[in-house]
Amino acid sequence: MGWEIRYFLSLTWLQGLDYCTFFRTQSSVVIGLLTGHNTLRKHLYIMGLSNNPTCRKCGTEEETSVHILYEREALVSLKHTHLGSFFVDPDDIRKITTGAIWNFAKGTKLF
Ligand SMILES: [Zn+2]
Repeated sequence: MGWEIRYFLSLTWLQGLDYCTFFRTQSSVVIGLLTGHNTLRKHLYIMGLSNNPTCRKCGTEEETSVHILYEREALVSLKHTHLGSFFVDPDDIRKITTGAIWNFAKGTKLF
């Protein structure tokens, strides 16, 4: 095998790896947001990894998936931008693509 081919294969292999890592990160954030097993403060607080369960965005409620996804006051403009509506309920979430949920999660800067 010539060096060009070996070089090409190593590049494709590396890119493939990045691609997998990206999807692994993306799906673990989306699954974490939907299941509540995530890096939000309330979960870290329950696990004993944080001493403050309060939301970093509003400072009043506990920072949970339910608060982030469904409460009417939290992150409404981000929901409108990424999830297509100012207010989202659990029935809506099933119709929203994981890509859109990922973009929303990333937009919150909480993950
Ligand atoms: Zn909040």
